[in-house]
Amino acid sequence: MSPADAVTHIQHFCPTCHRPVDGFRPGGVRSRPNARCPSCGALERHRFLAVLLDGLGPTLAHAATVVDIAPSRYTTAQLDQLRVGRYVRVDLDPDADGRAVDVRGSVTHLPFASDAVDLLLCYHVLEHVPDDRAAMREIARVLRPGGRALVQVPFRASRATDEEPDAPEEERIARFGQADHVRLYGVDFETRLAEAGLSGPRIHPVDVLGEELVAATGVKAAEPVWVLRRAPHGEAPTVGRAAAPPNHLLRGLHDLALAARSDRDAELREAAAELDRVKTERDRVKAERDRWRARHERITGHPLVRFAAAPYRWLQRR
Ligand SMILES: [Zn+2]
Repeated sequence: MSPADAVTHIQHFCPTCHRPVDGFRPGGVRSRPNARCPSCGALERHRFLAVLLDGLGPTLAHAATVVDIAPSRYTTAQLDQLRVGRYVRVDLDPDADGRAVDVRGSVTHLPFASDAVDLLLCYHVLEHVPDDRAAMREIARVLRPGGRALVQVPFRASRATDEEPDAPEEERIARFGQADHVRLYGVDFETRLAEAGLSGPRIHPVDVLGEELVAATGVKAAEPVWVLRRAPHGEAPTVGRAAAPPNHLLRGLHDLALAARSDRDAELREAAAELDRVKTERDRVKAERDRWRARHERITGHPLVRFAAAPYRWLQRR
């Protein structure tokens, strides 16, 4: 591999496992292209969440309590490394998909005191919950002032929420995308969050990463994440598309870009060194061949050898 090849080879990078990869594989419930990291298995949403958690890292170092609802092993690994005070994984039915959890509980009745949680992760949960408004109120209740919730749901900004918890299974698959989903959220999702007392921006990965890093990390440019806090007293909650991502999310992104670059540089240096090794070996083999050739010519050209070999040459000609 030449150094030039190395540059085009390393064009993707996984923020979850921090490895350069040669692209992303199909994955997800309906097998989307470019979804799964070939190295660690993380999907697009896990990779962007890893970016956000990296960005929040300096803040999280002082977090006393982080709550992860329906946790994924990717966030667990990352949060374990951040060494937050208390990391509590909660799920209503962990046996359903073999999740490792610390507490069995419902997002509509969270087993935490009010004002207790610094960071709450609630990814792809609310679309399963019949009383999602109760869940949103619970999230607002447990967040401490200044605490944040990162929330993601399947979302269509162009339509209203389509929901029907009692619809038969085939209909739920067709309308909501999965048998265990009770709705598909539309733009009024943000009204519901605000009514529950939550406030904050809707962030799209492209706002935070830019086009180039979106392509490099294989995340979905417009798959939104809501970064919510409890609206302070006397302030009307507002939830909506952010004009610009909050600064605290941009911290850490610089490091991510540097990590991606340093991996690329390391790969490049390795390729250049490999090329040097190959060239040195080629030169050594050439020199060796030339030495043997010269020796061979010296021997076969010697008058005595020529004299001694004459009968054989004569025989060969016959
Ligand atoms: Zn990965």
